[in-house]
Amino acid sequence: MSTDLQLVWLKRDLRIHDHTALCQAAAAGPVLCLYLVEPTLWAEPECARQHYLFVQECLMDLQRSLAARGGTVLLLHGEAVAMLERVHRVAPFAALWSHQETGNAASFARDKAVAAWCRAKGIAWHQPRQFGVVRALPSRDGWEKQWRDLMETPALPVPPCRFITPPIASDPWPAPSALGLDDWTPPLRQVGGRRAGIATLDSFLHDRSRRYRGGLSSPLLAEDACSRLSPYLSHGCLSLREIYQATCRRLAQLEPAAQWQKQGLRAFLSRLHWHCHFIQKLETEPELEWRNLHRGYDGLRENEWDEARFAALREARTGWPLVDACVTMLHTTGWLNFRMRAMLVSVAAYPLWLHWRPVGLWLAREFLDYEPGIHWSQLQMQAGTTGINTTRVYNPLKQARDHDPEGRFVRRWLPALRRVPDTWLFEPWNMPEDVQRRCGVIVGVDIPRPIVDLEQATRQAKERVHALRRKADVRLAKAEIAEKHGSRKRTSGKRRANSQSQHQMHLDW
Ligand SMILES: Cc1cc2nc3c(=O)[nH]c(=O)nc-3n(C[C@H](O)[C@H](O)[C@H](O)COP(=O)(O)OP(=O)(O)OC[C@H]3O[C@@H](n4cnc5c(N)ncnc54)[C@H](O)[C@@H]3O)c2cc1C
Repeated sequence: MSTDLQLVWLKRDLRIHDHTALCQAAAAGPVLCLYLVEPTLWAEPECARQHYLFVQECLMDLQRSLAARGGTVLLLHGEAVAMLERVHRVAPFAALWSHQETGNAASFARDKAVAAWCRAKGIAWHQPRQFGVVRALPSRDGWEKQWRDLMETPALPVPPCRFITPPIASDPWPAPSALGLDDWTPPLRQVGGRRAGIATLDSFLHDRSRRYRGGLSSPLLAEDACSRLSPYLSHGCLSLREIYQATCRRLAQLEPAAQWQKQGLRAFLSRLHWHCHFIQKLETEPELEWRNLHRGYDGLRENEWDEARFAALREARTGWPLVDACVTMLHTTGWLNFRMRAMLVSVAAYPLWLHWRPVGLWLAREFLDYEPGIHWSQLQMQAGTTGINTTRVYNPLKQARDHDPEGRFVRRWLPALRRVPDTWLFEPWNMPEDVQRRCGVIVGVDIPRPIVDLEQATRQAKERVHALRRKADVRLAKAEIAEKHGSRKRTSGKRRANSQSQHQMHLDW
């Protein structure tokens, strides 16, 4: 067995294109690719069967690409250190390669154990970055430029590799139930793998992006108008840089007359920037996965957990049609557009007064694209515990009137409402009894009654949050959080003259 063997450990980067770790490993010696099914990580409460099946599909696709180049992925089932030891015993590798990962506390602990094992064995562990996220970032100043520089460096082609035949046979895939994963998978979820990711990217760039700007916020239109690239990004079937560069090429091809589509693609590019901007927050402050970013909000909701309200939300029984329709769609497809995700968290955090952490764990399992850095940062932002954002409270009745005015979305996902007349569709609990009888939909029997009075519960929740925000010590801590996590945006004209620095702190984090 070659002594300069390079072990490439695939994690959330299930591709060989624009794969920095693979390229660098291939330049150093013969390569073996490894994927680990780690029981401890799959037992985390964020994990769901749909994620596991998606990963399997990605790896099957990857196997095909590797086989065409004379390679394969060695699949092992077990904890990382034990499995690395198992490989090392039969194929002593000189170096371990994997992309940097911004995961949860469990993957961080796993990485620390692997680092210790590598040190003890004298094995170099190289971890290049795959996103615009910077490890041990001293300050957010200059971050935007670093992001742009990375995105504009040419994407890497698949390198010529000398693959070795795995020294041991792969383990069989453990059954999802053996990993403690639930038995549900959304019947309409997206399929994993690079080929599906490329097809999704192509259809977005060449067709669907025409509808991006107009359809982004509508629960009905977004399903087609949004890129739908999120699960391919969060599992790494495509690199962010490939997507960025393909979008720039498409923008350059479009005629000036395609102004609307160009604006859509530019808006899409800014989302790609947000992707790393949000993950950077978790990288910089890993605790935000489980504790309030602004500690002044500790104790606000923690001690008032109401399981019955949470169950009603999860089971699409809140009684608010748009909320229940969104939960139903999510459970069926594994996806929801940004605005409806924000609305669900807002409803949970304000009128239902639920703490964001259990809500976030449930949503992580429901979202096929679960990405810890984006997810937990967004959860806290929508729940109002970052301390630096204006309170975002989405009224589900107003959202329904604005984004589903004809009720097509609500009727699609909640068949019981199909017979409810338009007048009462978004507030069916106000239907007079004779109308209920005539349309055959009895409130409290065929459809749920709202679990709380929306207006009153929202008002009380806002008052409690605002009372806290007004406190001097809470106000004081804001600046530090903004300095650490806020994006820097260049300001111009009058505002620049008024600001002390050319880089005005963008408080909207
Ligand atoms: C409470 C909450 C939780 C969320 N959890 C996740 C998550 O776990 N994983 C995830 O990928 N996105 C998450 N998002 C962000 C966003 O809703 C999804 O990225 C988006 O809906 C995915 O669909 P798309 O790929 O078609 O999006 P597009 O609009 O086409 O955007 C393209 C890509 O840009 C990035 N992006 C888009 N919006 C945001 C945003 N607001 N913040 C950061 N990055 C963004 C994503 O990588 C996305 O795939 C969350 C949003 C909220 C409000």
